[in-house]
Amino acid sequence: MKDKADLVIIGGGVIGLSLAYHLAKMGFTDVVVLEQGFLCFGASGRNGGGVRQQWSTEENIRLMQESVRMFKALSIETGYNLWFRQGGYLFLARDPETATGLESTIKLQNRCGVPTRLVSPTQASKIVHGLNTDGVEICAFNPTDGVLFPFPALWGMAKVASDLGVEINTFTRVTDIAAKGRQIVKVVTDKGSIATNRVVNAAGAWSVQIAKMLGVELPNKPYRHEILILEPTKPFLNPMVSDLSNGLYFSQTMRGEICGGVSNPDEKSSMDTGASFDFLRRMSSAMVAVLPKLASLKVMRTWAGFYDETPDGNPILGRVNQIDGFIQLNGFGGHGFMMAPAIGKMAAQWILRKANHQIFSKYDLARFDRGETERETFVIG
Ligand SMILES: Cc1cc2nc3c(=O)[nH]c(=O)nc-3n(C[C@H](O)[C@H](O)[C@H](O)COP(=O)(O)OP(=O)(O)OC[C@H]3O[C@@H](n4cnc5c(N)ncnc54)[C@H](O)[C@@H]3O)c2cc1C
Repeated sequence: MKDKADLVIIGGGVIGLSLAYHLAKMGFTDVVVLEQGFLCFGASGRNGGGVRQQWSTEENIRLMQESVRMFKALSIETGYNLWFRQGGYLFLARDPETATGLESTIKLQNRCGVPTRLVSPTQASKIVHGLNTDGVEICAFNPTDGVLFPFPALWGMAKVASDLGVEINTFTRVTDIAAKGRQIVKVVTDKGSIATNRVVNAAGAWSVQIAKMLGVELPNKPYRHEILILEPTKPFLNPMVSDLSNGLYFSQTMRGEICGGVSNPDEKSSMDTGASFDFLRRMSSAMVAVLPKLASLKVMRTWAGFYDETPDGNPILGRVNQIDGFIQLNGFGGHGFMMAPAIGKMAAQWILRKANHQIFSKYDLARFDRGETERETFVIG
């Protein structure tokens, strides 16, 4: 392992690796990535692979349009097949308030160039054969949303970054960060220390622990999110289906399995990744209620990962007031995977002073002290 670097990225999840990948492509390679486990150990190796442009703020819609463009190119760019399939996202609204919300977000999405449209329950059951539309008021469908297989996205970005000179150390845990006054001096790991003045905190659900090493308090909280996969069948389900009344979502992978999860409003913040029978019960009944023919399929596996949640549902990005060179890229909740390509590229441009993207000051940690928070309403799961 190198003993000094211009920049150290803590966290070899999709966010840290996307940043490393883009920095390397921009010619900045004196970078070390530190990952305590293997590359898909965190939420990035445990998620549903959903990629959507249906959001409620213009910022998030444009960010996701860019991410979709980048995901489409990533397999070719990295040589790793992401199995990105644009089968769309179909959202079901069951009450008038959610239906009205969908209508206004669709107008905004259309103004940004996302071809989302309102579809009646009858039209929705033509998009998803066998869909039970009892109690469904209206649906939103965007055919250009999609799903992918998360693992190769990480492997591909890591491979390109390390081929270009970035050092990626797996099974290397950061145990401390030393600073003199406002200046970072070194990052200490269980395999040795790296002298550096710049650290990126891309540690997902562990970001609070990393920030504490420098006396910085982040408001993020980790929540377990469970997910399951059903045995494979012939491909029949094009879009990701999501029920906005209970946060249910599921899609079919390229191998034919049905993969999905559901919100648990009773989940308490914890670092627990155990599987629960309660999830299996709630998820099975929610899925079968929406698509009754799934009742004949067996559950192959359930697992869990963390949603790294912030108080306003937006990530924490950019600088902190207390320490120089300590950059935050965390708090991505249930949607960090889809945002990673665009966020990684923008962060690389911002760090290298090639562009001054406003999101790095708008979504900084100090926004909570300034009282300048804005809630994204289109948050699922
Ligand atoms: C079940 C589930 C389903 C989801 N579905 C979707 C979806 O469909 N679409 C979507 O966009 N998002 C989804 N998400 C959210 C998405 O997975 C996350 O937002 C995203 O992966 C976060 O990436 P990250 O790099 O910030 O965090 P992580 O992937 O968790 O990476 C952080 C890394 O930091 C490492 N680390 C922590 N502490 C240390 C330390 N001390 N030293 C060294 N390394 C350390 C961890 O080991 C970890 O690998 C889902 C999440 C879950 C759990």
